[in-house]
Amino acid sequence: MSRKIAPPDPRGMDYLEIRGLTVDFDGFKAVDGVDVTLLQGQLHFLIGPNGAGKTTLVDAVTGLVSGSGHATYRGHQLLGMKSHQIVRAGVGRTFQTATVFEELTVLQNLDIAGGVHRSAWGMLRARRGVPDYVASALETIGLTDLADRPAGVLAHGQKQWLEIGMLLVQDSKVMLLDEPVAGMSAEERAETGELLRRIGTERTIVVIEHDMEFVRQYADIVTVMHAGKVLTEGSVADIQADPRVQEVYLGRTAEGAEHA
Ligand code: ADP
Ligand code: MG
Repeated sequence: MSRKIAPPDPRGMDYLEIRGLTVDFDGFKAVDGVDVTLLQGQLHFLIGPNGAGKTTLVDAVTGLVSGSGHATYRGHQLLGMKSHQIVRAGVGRTFQTATVFEELTVLQNLDIAGGVHRSAWGMLRARRGVPDYVASALETIGLTDLADRPAGVLAHGQKQWLEIGMLLVQDSKVMLLDEPVAGMSAEERAETGELLRRIGTERTIVVIEHDMEFVRQYADIVTVMHAGKVLTEGSVADIQADPRVQEVYLGRTAEGAEHA
């Protein structure tokens, strides 16, 4: 790909740079030489048909599967680091299905997530009250009034917001969100879009999503994946005008023709 590589720290902005990322499952390349630069302050959407390799890309960057190539953030080569080290380096993710502790309260879920950066002594002190950064995360995700409710009683959308809150208290500077609005009502989607805009100005946020209406409304930049590769990248208008994108979504792919 001929995409320009961002120079180090342009205008003081942060970025995560992925180059030649490949994930090979016994000879099947689920991710195949992906180059993408994720910039702070832009809502970057990652779209593509089922099986395109979106989740596997996030898994590789967050240490859940091994990949080759480079995924560089603030001088750290993330590939090869352990998941918890990647979290400490400031890179967090959510999963397609929510992973909150249902029996614990909203506040306890946030407190546990915040423990990533705290010493045992710090955690003891924090129990005496709600630490500022947790209170602030509760405010941001709109769950202050539900802080003492078990996470299990939250609505579907609220659980996803709690997950985003957990990334906030972890102080994730890069957030990789795997289909955060799947299954949400129109109202929840809109609230999530606004939430992502609010927190995205000072973070690098990547959203995997299928719903083109949501993408149209909130994406600053869109990367389209297909069969493990980047098919194209650009503004929503750019990718919508690209006949190759329409082809992969209709299943009439150039690759399909080759195999026929
Ligand atoms: P997406 O998130 O874009 O829908 P995935 O990243 O989940 O796609 O999957 C990409 C491809 O890799 C799919 O063909 C999937 O079946 C395959 N795949 C995912 N995980 C594994 C695995 N652990 N072992 C073998 N194949 C896998
Ligand atoms: Mg997926």
